[in-house]
Amino acid sequence: MTRLVLASGNAGKLREFEHLLAPAGFAILPQGTLGVPEADEPHFTFVENALGKARHAAARTGLPALADDSGICVAALGGEPGVHSARYAGEPKSDDRNNARLVAALAGAADRRAHYYCVIVLVRRADDPEPLIAEGRWHGEVIAAPRGAGGFGYDPHFLIPSLGRTVAELDAATKGALSHRGTAMRRLLALIREQAAGG
Ligand code: IMP
Repeated sequence: MTRLVLASGNAGKLREFEHLLAPAGFAILPQGTLGVPEADEPHFTFVENALGKARHAAARTGLPALADDSGICVAALGGEPGVHSARYAGEPKSDDRNNARLVAALAGAADRRAHYYCVIVLVRRADDPEPLIAEGRWHGEVIAAPRGAGGFGYDPHFLIPSLGRTVAELDAATKGALSHRGTAMRRLLALIREQAAGG
């Protein structure tokens, strides 16, 4: 097994990465178990934040590292909350307050289009000049009244028009098959395989 450190303490993300990468021969270690504190996320772009987190974990552990960054980008808000999604309504982080702020920001808006975005970065070492970078997007609309009890974050307000459901109304397997994070993970796995095959 190749050991990879995950630059996150999120148990849900750990499970999703393990599910995808264990069959490919990777053992995933959350950075907290190796004594690595969370890195800052000071950048304007998701990819810079993910790269910063992965480099930080690789530098502290000497292991290859994996990091992701994600958020919701709303067309009528010029792409906000974007990289600020987790703390859109300030500290401490709160899904309920973030959703309330988003619904208020779109009150009366006709254009309710939004997409979830996720980027995943894998570095072999902190100064890796060729990080593997995979991204995924999932398009939908923000609705004012929440629906569903699954998922997390903005899911109860994120409607997938083609399904007639919010993401919080989908089961985990359906979300994984369609989501920004699922797409990015499958693309990352393809890049890993390509690299291993010398592609
Ligand atoms: P991070 O990627 O851990 O920095 O978190 C990004 C934030 O974006 C989360 O706290 C959520 O608010 C939001 N977000 C990212 N992916 C999803 C998702 O799949 N559903 C709902 N909210 C999400």
